[in-house]
Amino acid sequence: MKILVINAGSSSLKYQLMDPQSGDVFAKGLCERIGIDGRLTHKAPAKDVKVVREIPMPTHAEAITAVLDILMDPVNGVVSSVDEIDAVGHRVVHGGSKFAGSCLIDEACLEAVRACIPLGPLHNPANLLGIEACQKIMPKTPQVAVFDTAYHMTMPPKAYRYAIPDEYYENDGLRRYGFHGTSHRYIAKRVEALMGRKDLKVVNCHLGNGSSLAAIYNGECQDTSMGLSPLCGVPMGTRVGDVDATVLQFIAKNYNKSIDEVMTILNKKSGVLGLSGGVSSDFRDLEAGAAEGNEKCQLALDKFAYEVKKFIGAYAAALGGLDVLVFTAGVGENGVLMRQMICEGLEFLGVKLDVEKNKLRGDERIISAADSKVTVWVIPTNEELMIAQDTAELAK
Ligand code: ADP
Repeated sequence: MKILVINAGSSSLKYQLMDPQSGDVFAKGLCERIGIDGRLTHKAPAKDVKVVREIPMPTHAEAITAVLDILMDPVNGVVSSVDEIDAVGHRVVHGGSKFAGSCLIDEACLEAVRACIPLGPLHNPANLLGIEACQKIMPKTPQVAVFDTAYHMTMPPKAYRYAIPDEYYENDGLRRYGFHGTSHRYIAKRVEALMGRKDLKVVNCHLGNGSSLAAIYNGECQDTSMGLSPLCGVPMGTRVGDVDATVLQFIAKNYNKSIDEVMTILNKKSGVLGLSGGVSSDFRDLEAGAAEGNEKCQLALDKFAYEVKKFIGAYAAALGGLDVLVFTAGVGENGVLMRQMICEGLEFLGVKLDVEKNKLRGDERIISAADSKVTVWVIPTNEELMIAQDTAELAK
């Protein structure tokens, strides 16, 4: 079976053609600068192919056409016709409270995704453009929507409700939804397979450019650090994380900014980028800066580690204990120093890192000491595989 996985952003579109059983990736790539000019980067690992092409992409439809053309290209491609693609799985960021799982796309599903636009105004419109472009170009191929929020729908109300007047929840659905759900779900499944049981108290740290933690029991999400939007929780590359709402009011009033301008500052100029005085949102740059004595870079790293550590403690309390701690995504999988900084001081919880085992990047391995009460894992995430598997299942 061959499933095409699409992750459409406002001006970019990532794709992978993969086997949902084996996880083999036949081809993957990226369309960039959609609506500006257009560039396609395409790789077919088994054929040792890597091509970069400038292709006009005024809309997502031309981007999808370019993807299908290169997938069917006699030299660089991996299929001979569109019919070889069994189904398409789309990442959709916000599913509101309507989707606790993935959904075969029909008009009712699309209507529900559109209804979530007020909750996910930065992402859902772009996800819809990707879906609509595929429907136009591959009308006979089944399409499936896989939501970032769906995995978190098992949270109890005490975790997902905000302490704001009830009417904003009842009328507008203002609550914690959580994101990176497909990644947290993949990790929950992997932990069950690796540990050979499900009844475990797990904290998963998805630490990348965007970061979120999830408290998991019995494979199900109990709480997560992102909220109504991906802006809250721990500080991120450029997002502020949790902040006193009075900060918004202060910046707006004192700098004569609109609420949208303040939101842009909190989304794009804050986090470790803001803390480092604008040096970088990339943790490798921050580590290099700190090593050269830049105190702001050091503070950005310290603050990030401190906030992640606090969430681990909070979630251990919420779960009533901790059996497994997992690190995943860019920083979680590769940040040797960051993992060490986060785990330092968590010995009281039963977390004992093996400093030698921790010196790994990108492998799936236990990094805790043999006598650590909590098993600490690095597990590379694979959201695309989850999307492909859901898609294969629903398209059957
Ligand atoms: P996204 O949220 O965009 O999917 P990723 O999960 O790909 O992000 O993570 C990207 C981040 O991973 C980069 O910003 C970088 O800071 C971090 N990263 C990658 N490699 C390393 C490394 N060797 N050490 C520390 N951080 C790393």
